[in-house]
Amino acid sequence: MEKILQQALEHGKKYTHLGKSAGYIPELQKVPATDLGIYIETLEGDAYGVGDYEKKFTIQSISKVLVLTLALMDNGPDKVFEKVGMEATGDPFNSIVKLELKSLQKPLNPMINAGAIATTSLIGGKDGTEQIERIVEFARLVSGNASIGINEAVYKSEAQTGDRNRSLAYFMKSCGVILEDVEALIHVYFKQCAMEMTCKDLARIGALYSNNGICLETGKQIIPKSITRMVTAIMTTCGLYDASGEFAVQVGVPAKSGVGGGILATVPNKLGIGVYGPALDEKGNSTGGIKMLSYLSDALELSIF
Ligand code: GLN
Repeated sequence: MEKILQQALEHGKKYTHLGKSAGYIPELQKVPATDLGIYIETLEGDAYGVGDYEKKFTIQSISKVLVLTLALMDNGPDKVFEKVGMEATGDPFNSIVKLELKSLQKPLNPMINAGAIATTSLIGGKDGTEQIERIVEFARLVSGNASIGINEAVYKSEAQTGDRNRSLAYFMKSCGVILEDVEALIHVYFKQCAMEMTCKDLARIGALYSNNGICLETGKQIIPKSITRMVTAIMTTCGLYDASGEFAVQVGVPAKSGVGGGILATVPNKLGIGVYGPALDEKGNSTGGIKMLSYLSDALELSIF
């Protein structure tokens, strides 16, 4: 396994020069675009890592997986899917265009920014402070890492520049999708995106979802099985935004990317994978990361299709 991972890393390295660190969040631009790492955790408890797998990065859109899961656990599926759909968009992750469609009246899915912001509004808590505390606590629980926290510099950087996300939120408020105070809500969203993890943390989370929500160490059901099924189905169809179809063909496993360069992948009943490679393609997905996953998927026959 170590050897295959090393080969996947070498393969991925050939593609990092084709991408760039996310430029629209100034703090993310400082991250070296040549970083690349991967970590795997199997349901038998074996774990392997190569490259920059111990480097911390902000999980950005990968937080949408955790927040959707917690929103479903807090409210049940009926209430969540009343506010946000479960269909792929074919549009960029920060697109506003389909929000105006009268036939929809809600964002298309929880993996794009609009849908994620609407999902965050469903997290239980008396105010934004309590909501983000619950989200961070949940991230610690599912990763088994009590030290997970928020990168303040990245949070502040996005809070200063995140006007597109503010517009999505205000637009949804004008349509009645969001009922809460937009400024308070948007800061919860920026903070969840700025949570920091390593490939190891992501692999551990991936393994939990692939084990139907049962903790590998304690055997405890942390997430109901019905919810891990819903969330991984949405990851499969929408997890890489408007590249989800191509990713399903080339890799074929439920996954979620983020503009910090991370990818969380979960192979049902087999293993979890955490990837880090901040050089992004034009759709906001890790260039080297996708290549490593496609190499591994071929070598280990991981595709679910
Ligand atoms: N915080 C980022 C944003 O809202 C997350 C986007 C992403 O990772 N694709 O723009």
